[in-house]
Amino acid sequence: MLEYRIVRTHRRTIGIIISPTHGVTVRAPLRASDKEIQQFVKIKTQWIKKHLESFTKKTCLNKNSLKEGDKILFRGQEYTVSLIPSTINQVELHDNIIGIKTSRPDDQKAILRVLERWYKINAEIHLRKLFGMIILKHSNRNFNLKELHIRKMKRKWGSCSSSGRITINRELIKLDDTLAEYVITHEICHLFKPNHSKEFYQLLGELEPNWRELIKKLSQYYN
Ligand SMILES: [Zn+2]
Repeated sequence: MLEYRIVRTHRRTIGIIISPTHGVTVRAPLRASDKEIQQFVKIKTQWIKKHLESFTKKTCLNKNSLKEGDKILFRGQEYTVSLIPSTINQVELHDNIIGIKTSRPDDQKAILRVLERWYKINAEIHLRKLFGMIILKHSNRNFNLKELHIRKMKRKWGSCSSSGRITINRELIKLDDTLAEYVITHEICHLFKPNHSKEFYQLLGELEPNWRELIKKLSQYYN
């Protein structure tokens, strides 16, 4: 039996959202009966199962807990976690070891906070640098970029508003630079073409000929 959550909202049709972290959510109109929803889910069962299975083959970038010897990613490289009791909270990289110094080595929340802060600082510096490099590389085109934001997002790697504000998911700092560069290039293309139209992909192909392969690589990860 498939488990799912029902959320009734002001909408006209029934829709299904599948998330690796939140499972299956059915969004239904206020007036939809339980029977109608059940029938809809029944018809979509194969499709839902296929998606749920695909998540098991993917790598989750977010950790709920960290222990000695765990593997985590930073800029596409895998590091082994070493928890170091210390008077200061700090993260250090040595070869393929990531040392997390913390005053509270028994407190999972405290450990994750130290690591998150370190990822955040590095994402701000490094992703902005990559962004600057890509803008420079395509400086012959007139970008109407107003703002760049780097923040943690649940469902998206990046977004671009109609007013020219680009947001890049901070989690990209965990992946190889080529993947972060792809997302940045994708969002820059939206400055010219707001939708995923044929023209959009044409432009994307000019700026990043390898985009198909990069999307495939990126789809192996989720937050
Ligand atoms: Zn897009």
